[in-house]
Amino acid sequence: MNLEVVTIGTELLLGFTLDTNGAEIGRELAALGIRVVRRTSVADRPDEIRDAVESALRRSGAVLTTGGLGPTRDDITKRIVAELYGWPLDFDEGLWQALVERYRRRGRIPAESNRSQAEVPRGATVLPNQWGSAPGLWLEGPPGLTVMLPGVPLEMHHLLAEEVAPRLATRGGGSVIRSRTVRVTGIPESTLAERLGEIETAIAPLTLAYLPGLDGVDLRVTAWGLAAAEATRRLDAAAAELRVRAGDVVYGEDSDDLAALVLEVAREAGATIAAAESCTGGMLGARLTEIPGSSDVFVGGAVSYADHAKTALAGVPPALLAAHGAVSEPVAVAMAEGIRERLGADLAVAVTGIAGPGGGTADKPVGTVCFALSGGGETVSSRAILIGTRAEIRYRAAQAALFLLLKRLRLSFPGPEQGRTRK
Ligand code: AMP
Ligand code: MG
Repeated sequence: MNLEVVTIGTELLLGFTLDTNGAEIGRELAALGIRVVRRTSVADRPDEIRDAVESALRRSGAVLTTGGLGPTRDDITKRIVAELYGWPLDFDEGLWQALVERYRRRGRIPAESNRSQAEVPRGATVLPNQWGSAPGLWLEGPPGLTVMLPGVPLEMHHLLAEEVAPRLATRGGGSVIRSRTVRVTGIPESTLAERLGEIETAIAPLTLAYLPGLDGVDLRVTAWGLAAAEATRRLDAAAAELRVRAGDVVYGEDSDDLAALVLEVAREAGATIAAAESCTGGMLGARLTEIPGSSDVFVGGAVSYADHAKTALAGVPPALLAAHGAVSEPVAVAMAEGIRERLGADLAVAVTGIAGPGGGTADKPVGTVCFALSGGGETVSSRAILIGTRAEIRYRAAQAALFLLLKRLRLSFPGPEQGRTRK
């Protein structure tokens, strides 16, 4: 079954309100095997709403709208759609009494304008709304299927899950649209694509999307219109194939967070972690301590920003700073070793870089970041040039440092996390 979504509200076009309803509907309907083939946002204007609903019905035969069901003059969705179906609006006394009762419980009485919310297009099914004053409406007739839901996200959410989804469930033909994400980091999208090769052929009929972001690149495979068990089987196989082809840049699946994985693997291995941070200014510590229970792994760290703080907090020799500069691999090595010894951690990571926008030079352009990882009797360092704004470079530097930790932990302690399958 194909369906279009029309989200109604001038605030959506002005950018004051994000269309979270559209996103939620997409996710919810995919799980039912219903393809949302188009999403349109329109202003609270009769012509715009009529045109959007009418053309959606003509193209796809089914449309789900949100918004414009309230009591005010700009709430006109119901009247427009009733006109499209050629159905008059009947005043529903039962709905009105329920509304009066709802107000009474809060010690109020409804306004005259609320009466419009008790009007129902003749032939429509009312989807009762216990969370607000505007009920949803289900219209099935010659123009096709139109489902109208209120715009308030909480009300939309409940009506979608409790009234709409069960009614649509049988129309997905027992199939689902299901996705799985393999998360990789530290590799440009184009290099990754080369590694994956002709992957689309190998995983067909599943489709693959490359979704680059600050965390890295998410590889999302989607199974369309398959039975649930078959979809899961094929997604498992596709995710396994992606992992093999992408290799050492894979860190997790679906909503896995890199900091949480670092803590999990370190805990499994009984290893403790410390950090010496310059350009990330504590972001590494924040990412790790955001996860509940981090204290048994993360011992602490230093925000050693100024040169003399690198010396005072991490024991970096001033001569080293003078010789190589604060953004250099030797300084990163000294930061990692210094903080590891001072805090008595098993592993320590250090980050020092130029986040910009100023401060770049010809041999150390903005985005140059040096990393070091110390533990197990050795310290290794590396250097990267990260791209983006100051905020992006800082975030990417923290992500890269976490990935260094994870790779080291997985190499030294290939524990049960390795073979874990995530659903
Ligand atoms: P309405 O049902 O049109 O009166 O919408 C009520 C409120 O819900 C609006 O003021 C918005 O804040 C919110 N809203 C409407 N449409 C959406 C949407 N598509 N996504 C998220 N919020 C919305
Ligand atoms: Mg509105």
